[in-house]
This record gives sequence, structure tokens and C-alpha cells, in this order.
Amino acid sequence: MEIVPGIHQLKVAMSNSPLAYLNCYLIKGREGWTMIDTGFSTPESFESLKAGLEGMGISFTDIGAILVTHIHPDHYGLAGKIRQLSPESRLIMHKWEGVLIESRYLKFVDLQKKIAAMLEKHGVPPIDVSEFKIASMPALEFVKINFPDYHLYGGENISTGKFNLEAIWTPGHSIGHLCFYEPKNQLLFSGDHLLPVTIPNVSYHVETGDNPLGDYLYSLEKIRNLSVSRVLPGHEDCFTDFKGRIDEIIRHHENRAKEILLILQKNPCNAFDISGELFWNSANAHWESIPVLEKRLAVMETIAHLEKMRWENIVQRLVKDDFVFYQVKN
Ligand SMILES: [Zn+2]
Repeated sequence: MEIVPGIHQLKVAMSNSPLAYLNCYLIKGREGWTMIDTGFSTPESFESLKAGLEGMGISFTDIGAILVTHIHPDHYGLAGKIRQLSPESRLIMHKWEGVLIESRYLKFVDLQKKIAAMLEKHGVPPIDVSEFKIASMPALEFVKINFPDYHLYGGENISTGKFNLEAIWTPGHSIGHLCFYEPKNQLLFSGDHLLPVTIPNVSYHVETGDNPLGDYLYSLEKIRNLSVSRVLPGHEDCFTDFKGRIDEIIRHHENRAKEILLILQKNPCNAFDISGELFWNSANAHWESIPVLEKRLAVMETIAHLEKMRWENIVQRLVKDDFVFYQVKN
């Protein structure tokens, strides 16, 4: 699909993901094309991307730069393969995403141990922890690792010779998440920072700061004042109601915070028990039947909420025998 002359969207198939597609964008340059996000490193995604490029009459060697909004496998998975097929191309991402590649995809055993210890502290029963720990393991199969050629920090202008893209650092969904803003047509490439239907997951993570949800909401405010005529998200469809969607997501988190506070007002509680009482937008309505990875994300999102409230001095942590509980501050 051509968004404006010279900017295309390709829907890269990912039948094993609930989101079904990754939106890959191609932006014309004076020489070569710039790609934003790639799809999984699976034969299905690769063939789908290849067919899309062929449909546009270009090949992998026409890609000069690969920008990734963040290193989750659906966005970064194929970057290594494309880099191989187009040796002149350059892989570009935020500094913090580059830093996480090694622990996420190479030395992941250490990371898994840390995640397991963190989840156990927050009340996840040991039987679930062992399952939770390996829940993101399949992600490793979906990535062909390549380290970045260039780091961004946010604020840079990337010129393709025809379009200018401003890199905007939007931590929250991932610590080094970037959006890219194209001012001439007022387009925002929003990655997973802003999606039209799904509420982007914001998880407390052992590798990031203590208040990722605070970062996320701040990152929404950061982009609010841009003049945006169309949002080009990492999944789902392009949309125009930019500010309306920002407000909806903020409201969702405000409501969630209220629900958590109501639970805590009854008793001090740990994050796992609170998660079990909340409603999750999953195909499976009952907490017991929610798939393991989704459950893990749910618990980590609850912790993100609790830590934001702690940061705001609304709740406090209680540590008993190495287990963490939260209680409302008087
Ligand atoms: Zn994604």
C-alpha cells in the first residue's frame, strides 16, 4: 500500500502472533530505500516481505538503511537476514535497544534467572515461575541477530534525500523505543508506542528502570504536540485520530490504576494475586486459562502499575521473607 508517493506499507505475515501482521514501511531515498521494522525471522515472514518488495519492483539490495523501532522479535527479527542480503545496508536503532541484544538473545540464561527471581518475589508460585521463565523462549527462534551499525539517542534527523525522519525517543513499551516523525506529510511511524486497537504492553522488567509505565505515559505526552495527520503503527491499520487515541490509552491506565487501588484498599497484596483479580483482554476470559506468556506480561504490567504508584508515593512496598507486597500509604 502506498501511503504517500514514496512511502509504502507492507504487511508482513506472522500467523503465530495474535497481531497477525507486522507493518514494515519503506521510504524512498535519493539512492536506495530506508526500511522501518522487519517481521519475524521465519520463512513465512521472509517470503511475505520478499513478495511485498517484489510487488514494489525492488529487491533487498535496494535497501540502504534498516531502522528498527525496538528489538522485539516482530520488529527486529529479520534485520540480520536483510543486512546479509544487502551488505551495503546499515542497521540503526536506539542505543538502549542495541545494549539489550546480548542479554536478550545471546546470554539469555542469566536474564531468565533474573526474571524468575523477580517473578517469585512478586508472588508467582514456583510451578508457574518455571513455565513463565521459558515462556518467551520461542522468541529466540524468530530472531537473526545483528548488532547495530549506528546508534540513535532521539532527536536526530535522518535524511533519505527525499524525506526527513526525526527520531523521537519514546521509552515505555521498550526502554529504547523510537518513533519516527516525517514533518512534510505529518506522518508518525509509531512502532508499538501507539496502536489503534491494542493497548501496548508496558511491563516492569529486570533490565529497565523502576518506572516504565511512568516513562510510557510521559512518552505519550512527548508526542502529543506533534502535528500528525496519519499514524503509521507497527501493527493493525493506519489511523488519523492521533490525540483521541493517546487520550484513550491514558484513560485505560488511569482506570487500571483505580482498580488496583480498590483491591489494595482491602488488604496488602502481591502483584500476582492482584493480576488474578483484574480483567485482561485475552481470548480466554479466565485468569487460569490465559496462555503463559500473556499471563507473564500481565503480571509484569501489574508490577509496572504498582511501581508507578510507589514512585508517586501512593503505595509502599512491604518485604516479608523476600516476598514483595504492596500496601496503600496512609
Ligand atoms: Zn510489535
